Amino acid sequence: MIIVLKPDVDASKQEQLTGWLEEMGVRVHVAVGDYQTVLGLIGNTDNIDADLIESLDIVDSVKRVSESFKTCNRKFHPDDTIVQVGDVKIGGGHFAMIAGPCSVETQEQITGIAKEIKQTGANMLRGGAFKPRTSPYDFQGLKAKGIELLKIARKETGLPIVTEIMSVVDLPLFEDVDVLQVGARNMQNFDLLKELGMLKKPILLKRGLANTLKELLMSAEYIMSNGNEQVILCERGIRTYSDYTRNTLDLAAVPMLKELTHLPVIVDPSHATGISRLVPPMAMAAAAAGADGLIIEVHNDPLHALCDGAQSLTPEEFAKLVPKVLNVREAAWS
Ligand code: PEP
Ligand code: MN
Repeated sequence: MIIVLKPDVDASKQEQLTGWLEEMGVRVHVAVGDYQTVLGLIGNTDNIDADLIESLDIVDSVKRVSESFKTCNRKFHPDDTIVQVGDVKIGGGHFAMIAGPCSVETQEQITGIAKEIKQTGANMLRGGAFKPRTSPYDFQGLKAKGIELLKIARKETGLPIVTEIMSVVDLPLFEDVDVLQVGARNMQNFDLLKELGMLKKPILLKRGLANTLKELLMSAEYIMSNGNEQVILCERGIRTYSDYTRNTLDLAAVPMLKELTHLPVIVDPSHATGISRLVPPMAMAAAAAGADGLIIEVHNDPLHALCDGAQSLTPEEFAKLVPKVLNVREAAWS
């Protein structure tokens, strides 16, 4: 259930209402908007008399929320959530350009790429230290050392760092990481999601290979219901019967998610296609679809990359793409 309050209500009357609702056994999520405050009720609302609440002089309207996702529901929080990472904002009209290699390989590699992409328009650096690989014989990432190398690249460039966490046992290593990524394969690792919900750090949650939008939102709810509301959603392609691309980029997910939730939604055209030449058109399409940002794999030497070279842009290709993406965004959304 959501209760939309009238503009400029008296704080003590609002507190009285909130206290009474909590006594009835529900949790009250307060979203203060530009014009109105929305109280979102979480828990069993069967015994709450909607007509009685609607009759109160501070209440504008009362609606039942049928969806099982509550805290991330746009009805609970009508304004876009803006996630802040250092000086970088994502959502609510702010566009993030996250770039970097699939995996951190050496200090020269990660710092070199970071410097080049920063100059050409990236505002965050990605790089995997813990890699979820299909084969146990493939490069598994530099792990703790990879995170240390990312921090050096951050120090040299000022770019906030985004890297994937695969297990709760590694959490202490991520203390000084700016954005923790939950990869597609871990989207429903509920123990990990609950643990990330207790942090005060932005979480980049990628859609699973075979997961619906509702399942993605329920996973976001696992993080948010534990108190961490800084979640960024990412569409990265899903498994279908596509034969020439790694995955199928579900671009309609972008406007659909933005209707359903207030969270920022970004797109990963690299894992969605698996082919570097398809990355620029899909990145532009994502901007046209209303994405709040992109996460793009960039490698200085894709032919020798330890992971995902075929889908990696060179820094030069990335530099050419950035103004095109911004132009598309401007044309479609300003
Ligand atoms: C990645 O970002 O390198 C990655 C493994 O992504 P995904 O979880 O989307 O496959
Ligand atoms: Mn990758």
